[in-house]
Amino acid sequence: MKITVVIITVCFILITIAILPLPADQKNFPANFKEDAFKHIEHICSLGIRSTGTPVETKTIEYVAKQLEKTGLKVNIEWFEFTNYAADRFTLHAAGKTYSPTMVLFNPYLGIFQFQGELCIYDPDTTDLNKTDIRDKMLLTVETANPFALMGRNPQLVIMVTKTDFDRLKSQMSTAFKLDIQGKMKKYKSANVVGILAPGKKKEIILCAHLDAYDSPGAGDNASGLGVMLELARYFKTMELQLPCQLKFIALGAEEIGALGSRIYLEQHKQDLKNCELVFNIDNVGGTQKIAVETKGSMGGISPVKGETQFPAYINDKGWDGANRKWKILCPALIKAFTAADFPDWLCLIIKDTVKELKYDARFVGPLGGDGQIFAQAGIASTSILIKVNEAHTLQDTPDKVVKKSLEKAGKLIAFVVLKTMNRLR
Ligand SMILES: [Zn+2]
Repeated sequence: MKITVVIITVCFILITIAILPLPADQKNFPANFKEDAFKHIEHICSLGIRSTGTPVETKTIEYVAKQLEKTGLKVNIEWFEFTNYAADRFTLHAAGKTYSPTMVLFNPYLGIFQFQGELCIYDPDTTDLNKTDIRDKMLLTVETANPFALMGRNPQLVIMVTKTDFDRLKSQMSTAFKLDIQGKMKKYKSANVVGILAPGKKKEIILCAHLDAYDSPGAGDNASGLGVMLELARYFKTMELQLPCQLKFIALGAEEIGALGSRIYLEQHKQDLKNCELVFNIDNVGGTQKIAVETKGSMGGISPVKGETQFPAYINDKGWDGANRKWKILCPALIKAFTAADFPDWLCLIIKDTVKELKYDARFVGPLGGDGQIFAQAGIASTSILIKVNEAHTLQDTPDKVVKKSLEKAGKLIAFVVLKTMNRLR
């Protein structure tokens, strides 16, 4: 008799836990969240300069995996190999002289390393890009021009030179040129660390943050994202029994040279991603700038098949940005997919409600151009948060610049958006 009562009571408690809405309120948010997240940042930055594909990135992979295991998640380290082109030297012959361009935008994976013809001179100080057709042109410009603004307009080649060289070349009568590119393809190794709460549930939600840094200690970009993600894993662990879906915490490798981790994850997890309800990307959240959350943008450029990437297959295991920062890729299909945005109405509503509840002063922005877009272009509802440190991508991006309060702000916003999304699934 007693046993029956105990069993009934236990069942009742479990059922109650399973049907009660998850608590998206501040009372339950851990008081030490920002301090604990900051400790991860300090440790990760103490490992060294976390450039893509280096032993320091590997040490970070191991640290994150260990932390997620300690929290009690099921953890897999998914190693992958990729190729990146390393440009050694550019030699530009024009107007009877030889120049050394500082950066070249081209596509090394097409196997063309020599260009010649007529240069189209683009001076960002005097020419309005919106009124100039540079499609298929071979452009010469100054090194301070914005490469991303040029890429989207599909030129065939962009050669960037110093201001002195640019002024000299601009004043010449002849625009005939020849460019030789010397370099080699190199293989690298990186990994995605995948930690799962409530494994086995059909639907899933993903929280992700990239592991590597842009030749920098990367405290803000993106040890801050990792710290926040690791602490969110601890927060959600306390509710594991109540979770209506799997919750994945993914530290993505090799983001800084072409979002390789997320592209490879997409390739390897097509089936799971068909049941993915939301991806929340955490990138650079320890700064002083105003909170930015992605909610804006056309629904254009999204794959009709959920989980299916639109990037050309030949480029999937290739880097898009030289490890030595001497070249960037030109590939129209890739640019198109990279500006895709997929913010369904329900998600925008949840984000805006949460921002209001938390009384945050936030801006709502379009695609931020990181791992979030990789998931978005594959038709998965995805958003990203940014509280930018001004020192990102420099050697000054160190833990002392990180604002602890920003870590907490990011943590709460992400936690409550995820909890509300989960409540929709129950
Ligand atoms: Zn980043």
